[in-house]
Amino acid sequence: MTSPLRESRDHDEAGIAEFASESIVILDESGKVRSWNPAAERIFGWPALALRGTRIADISPSPADERRAWAHLLQEGSWHGRISRYTRDGGIVCAEVRRHLRYDGTGMHCDVIEFAYPTRDSGETQYAAGPVPDRTTAASWQIDVSPAAEIIAQIAARAGSVPEDELRDIYSRLVERALIVEVNERTARLVGGNRGPALLAGQSVAAFWPVGSRGILAELVLEALRGREGKVCRRQLASDGILRDPLVTVWRAGRAHSGRLFIAVNGAADDDRSYLFLRASEARYRKLIDYMPVALWQVDASHMGKIYAQLRADGVVDFERYLEEHPELVELAAATVNVTDVNRRAIELVGGAGVQDLIRPVGYLFAANPAALRRVMIGRFTGRKNYSELMKLQTLDNRVLDVRFSVTYPEPLLELDTTIFSLEDVTEQLRMETQLRQLQADFSHAARVSMLGELASSIAHEVNQPLAAIVTNAETSLRWLGRDKPDIGKVEQLTARIVASARRADEIVQRVRGMAVKQAPAPVELAFNEIIQESLLFVRHEIETRSVRVRTSYARGLPPVIGDRIQLQQVVVNMLINAIQAVEGCDEALQEIALSTGTDEKGDLLFMLGDRGPGIAPDHIARIFDGFFTTKTHGMGIGLAICQSIVTAHGGELSASNRPGGGAQFRVILPRAGRFAAADQIAGRPACAEGI
Ligand code: ADP
Repeated sequence: MTSPLRESRDHDEAGIAEFASESIVILDESGKVRSWNPAAERIFGWPALALRGTRIADISPSPADERRAWAHLLQEGSWHGRISRYTRDGGIVCAEVRRHLRYDGTGMHCDVIEFAYPTRDSGETQYAAGPVPDRTTAASWQIDVSPAAEIIAQIAARAGSVPEDELRDIYSRLVERALIVEVNERTARLVGGNRGPALLAGQSVAAFWPVGSRGILAELVLEALRGREGKVCRRQLASDGILRDPLVTVWRAGRAHSGRLFIAVNGAADDDRSYLFLRASEARYRKLIDYMPVALWQVDASHMGKIYAQLRADGVVDFERYLEEHPELVELAAATVNVTDVNRRAIELVGGAGVQDLIRPVGYLFAANPAALRRVMIGRFTGRKNYSELMKLQTLDNRVLDVRFSVTYPEPLLELDTTIFSLEDVTEQLRMETQLRQLQADFSHAARVSMLGELASSIAHEVNQPLAAIVTNAETSLRWLGRDKPDIGKVEQLTARIVASARRADEIVQRVRGMAVKQAPAPVELAFNEIIQESLLFVRHEIETRSVRVRTSYARGLPPVIGDRIQLQQVVVNMLINAIQAVEGCDEALQEIALSTGTDEKGDLLFMLGDRGPGIAPDHIARIFDGFFTTKTHGMGIGLAICQSIVTAHGGELSASNRPGGGAQFRVILPRAGRFAAADQIAGRPACAEGI
């Protein structure tokens, strides 16, 4: 077993060895390769991951010399001399080598460190399949193509007879099926978002291999599989935005691992900055993303992109309907769109133990509401740049959170097809908003009750009228019945009147009750003219006793609005009471209130209420909607503040001005039904599914 101490020492050494220009190799006691630095990759032409665990003598053209050198080393503790080694192309490289035996803390020898540099006469260029340009070390991969066995067999069976178009498609499927077994640091850095090689293992090669050269990779894979073992297949590619003029080499991993291939990609990073500079900036960027307080997911949905393109080509326009008819496509996305990277906050948010818990198909993010995934797919299909909605998230440790989910789709035509999801926990924020809304509702209810208090004598008067009529009619009725010859016809008539009056009294009581009882707002489609007429009933007595004239002008064909009946009545009654109070004490000619409805330039509902009272003092205009602002001796100053919060919650606007001829004028605009997602706002739910 490897001791933790040795592991950490290996790690440190590997870090230092990475930058050495000399080949530095660590071998175990039996001569098997334990670590192989980038210079060794360059000098001997083998990527580290192809050699790890291999006996060094196995790549020597003269094993007997190797055995002698090894025996000397074990006896003397060190050895130096010249060796020759096969390259992976079957060429031979000669090198000057120093080997030292190393000991652990207990004095037992534990490994061998070997330093080597190529000898001048051998050069570094004895490659059978042509020289590898001395650019940089390879980005190396070990891949497993056995999941694509069927496709490979299909290509072999139809050799030469597959049309170009179809072949391209088959090749990309082959690369999609092929899985990454292992990659080296450089590969992870170049294509894996620098998260480290462990994350790439087990994922589709297509998720990380540049889109433009997937066909060439497939060709090289097929060529390597067809050729004899040890055959090296190589292709120079055009710069791909990651590496400049990359050279790709593919060969079989050996009989023991059928279906496995090694890939080495040589080439300089396609960036003018030095490798170290690039690495430092990548690390900074990585750190920034990693410590960002927003949870981020990097997602590879490239194969869905292809499906969408195909559907578009097939003439699908209404994708929403298409998904309704084909729910299996949503399931496919949930099961096959893979998360390729996440940051720390993401792990914390979903309650995972580590990165690996989150690196899997995206379905787990949408477990609590699969419809959200559908909307995300529609967003991409319809070519949006991004999309956002509030949704529930079921965490891995079974909590349910409210999150704002946002997605940034990949830019079309970019080679790397990367989608970014971000999730922000808004549970606490929503809880506070709900509390605040509750408080506002309580407050406006209190104001309504206090408003009814102001109207108490009016209400009593209104109820009294039908009650008095009932008494009179009942008495008359009794008289008719008391006659020698009771007039049943008259009694019938009077009883009908009694019933009507009782109904009227009941209506009034119900109306007042509606205002007084505390109930959750219920947004429905409303005709605003009716709201005004019902509101006028509340203040009828006030108007009549003060001989205030009310002029109304109801526009016909008004657009309906979505709102809560009681809340909107509260607004109108409040403004009516203010207007009645304003004209009180004015000349009789000025005791007039005018109400009108119509539409504004946008086609939204416009309601105006004006009076001919003293108007609002100019320096008060900006303050009358503030809570507790009042100029009345017994005023509370909450009426207009509440009117404004109600109108705003309905997506509308309330404003005040002075009329040119004197008096105040209030203007209410309410969006016509369909233009504002009022239902959620009024009912106290946050609006969902808006774009960003
Ligand atoms: P209150 O009626 O208890 O004062 P409001 O919030 O309804 O509370 O009104 C705030 C203030 O706005 C009033 O005190 C008054 O100064 C002014 N105001 C409201 N309506 C009118 C109006 N129609 N004419 C003149 N001033 C008004």
